[in-house]
Amino acid sequence: MALKDNLKEIHQKISAAAKRCGRNEDEITLICVSKTIDAETINEAFNLGERVFGENRVQELTEKYPLVNSDARWHLIGHLQTNKVKYVVGKAELIHSVDSLHLAKAINAQAEKQGICQKILLEVNISGEESKYGLTTQEIPTIIKEIGNMKGLSFRGFMTMAPLYAEENEIRDIFSKAKRLFDEYKPYGSEVLSMGMSQDFEIAVEEGATCVRVGRSIFKK
Ligand SMILES: *Cc1c(COP(=O)(O)O)cnc(C)c1O
Repeated sequence: MALKDNLKEIHQKISAAAKRCGRNEDEITLICVSKTIDAETINEAFNLGERVFGENRVQELTEKYPLVNSDARWHLIGHLQTNKVKYVVGKAELIHSVDSLHLAKAINAQAEKQGICQKILLEVNISGEESKYGLTTQEIPTIIKEIGNMKGLSFRGFMTMAPLYAEENEIRDIFSKAKRLFDEYKPYGSEVLSMGMSQDFEIAVEEGATCVRVGRSIFKK
C-alpha cells in the first residue's frame, strides 16, 4: 500500500512542479531508482504502472534484470568501470554516467561488437565538487566531438547531481547551468536532461529536467 501512495505522491509533485513553470508533466519521465530494492518490489512498482528503473551498480542490474517483467526498461545511473561495460551494454536502455573518453570508447567497442548502438548521457560535474564523478563543462565540447565519430554510441544528453547538502539557490544554479548545456547541444542530439533526486526533484523539474531519478521517496516504507 505504501508503495502505491508514495508513487502517487511523487507523480502529483512532478505534475505540480511542471505546472508551476508552464510545462507538461508528460515531458518528464520518472526513473524509479531501485538500488537495494528486491525484484519482487520492483515488479510491484511495474504493476502500478512504472516502466523505467535505475540502478547504480552493474551487478544489481544484471541480477534483477531477468527477475523483473521483461517490459521494464533499465537505466544505469551510477559510476561505471570499464571492466563492467560488457555486462551492461545492450541491457541498459540508457547509461547516464559516462564521465570519461576512456569509458565512452569502451562502451563503443562493446556496442560495436554486439552490433548495437548504445544510448548514453554524459555526466557533468557542474558544481566542481572534487568528490563527484563527472566531466567538467570545459571537457564537454571535445568529448562530444569524439563521440560523434563512434558508431556504437548515441549521445542523448546530460546527467548531473547537485551536492547533497546545498541551499536551494545553489541547487537551482547547478540545474539551470545543466539546462543551458542541454539546450546548447540540442543540435548534437541532446534530448534528455537527467537531474533531481528525492530531495531536489521538484526543483529539477522547474529548471527543465526531462527525467528525475527518485529512490528513497518511492520505496520508503
Ligand atoms: C541513489 C541515486 C539516486 C536516487 O536518490 P534518492 O535520494 O534515493 O532519491 C539518484 N541518482 C543516483 C546517481 C543515485 O545513485
